[in-house]
Amino acid sequence: MKTYKIALIKGDGIGPEVINEAIKVLNKVSELEGFNIEYKEYLMGGCAYDLYKNPLPEETINGCLEVNAILFGAIGGNKWDNLPREMRPESGLLRLRKALEVFGNIRPAMVFEELTKASTLKAEIITNTDLIVVRELIGGIYFGQPKGKDSDRAYNTMIYTKEEITRIAKLAFDLASTRRKKVCSVDKANVLEVSQLWREVVTQVSKQYPEVELTHQYVDNASMQLIKDPKQFDVILTENLFGDILSDEAAMLTGSIGLLPSASIGGKVSLYEPIHGSAPDIAGMGIANPIAAILSAAMMLKYSFKENQAAENIHQAIVKVLKKGYRTKDIALFDAKNICNTSQMGDLIVKYLKEEI
Ligand code: NAD
Repeated sequence: MKTYKIALIKGDGIGPEVINEAIKVLNKVSELEGFNIEYKEYLMGGCAYDLYKNPLPEETINGCLEVNAILFGAIGGNKWDNLPREMRPESGLLRLRKALEVFGNIRPAMVFEELTKASTLKAEIITNTDLIVVRELIGGIYFGQPKGKDSDRAYNTMIYTKEEITRIAKLAFDLASTRRKKVCSVDKANVLEVSQLWREVVTQVSKQYPEVELTHQYVDNASMQLIKDPKQFDVILTENLFGDILSDEAAMLTGSIGLLPSASIGGKVSLYEPIHGSAPDIAGMGIANPIAAILSAAMMLKYSFKENQAAENIHQAIVKVLKKGYRTKDIALFDAKNICNTSQMGDLIVKYLKEEI
């Protein structure tokens, strides 16, 4: 029987709550589809700082480099907000992504038909939205040198090389080739030199993909178009900072940040995580939506292990549970029939992995 080794980083806040549900689902789907999963848990984030005075201990980096994939919850929280920047949980995550060399962040935003009412946008605008944001993850202004801050002046640097743009562009075009064959590259080429290079290189790469249509949008326009007509997008390709913002905006099309998974790929070991943070406002209350974490586990099965049937079964089980009217609190705002807590939602998805409705 095939065995996949996974590093689990549950993290802080609701991280452990949602990852525990993803584990339940992985255990059941692996049993049904006939493969094994071995888990090893590592500390990272605020919980690691509390124990080791380091948000990303060496043991965690080394452990992550030895497995087939990493499933990650969320890190951070008010308790650690006043630490020096390098000690903060978020710095640990940036360092982990860099150590893994995962340059491509894939964030799908698909609207579940059953949840169109949970979105703040009109149903006719969002129905059938199915887009993917491909965000460059280990370059740009989050990592550029020099950077600095004193009492009356601060600066960061946005840098991209041709090589960095080429590899993320190829990833986006490869993905679009398997979908509706459209890439919209988002930049700010009317103002930023780095965006001008971005546009030149993306245009160059597109010549290797004649079957894929390439369009360009400025980031301010793209943020507006996402709300106005999200169905126009198939794959959105963009750099680190713009992608961070646009993907959260895209998340809200679906109704809740608690629904959306992500994959960080292209490096030594791929990392899968819900796009939400540690949600300190609801941590410990048992009301977090585990669907984003469960869909992240499904992305792991598909992208890292090629267990496409298992991934599809998870997706279908979620659809069945939503069709039955079960909702966690975040998606029950306009449509409350059967409200369930985090653990009940995980149990229901497990149940519908094997049951028809
Ligand atoms: P957040 O995503 O944690 O929460 C934003 C809002 O969405 C909150 O109201 C929260 O209750 C809600 N929410 C988030 N996930 C939910 C879920 N699964 N179910 C139901 N509701 C959910 O963002 P924030 O409040 O800006 O950040 C909180 C902490 O998380 C900060 O320390 C931040 O740095 C950190 N953070 C971590 C990551 C990560 O680990 N990748 C990502 C973003 C933010």
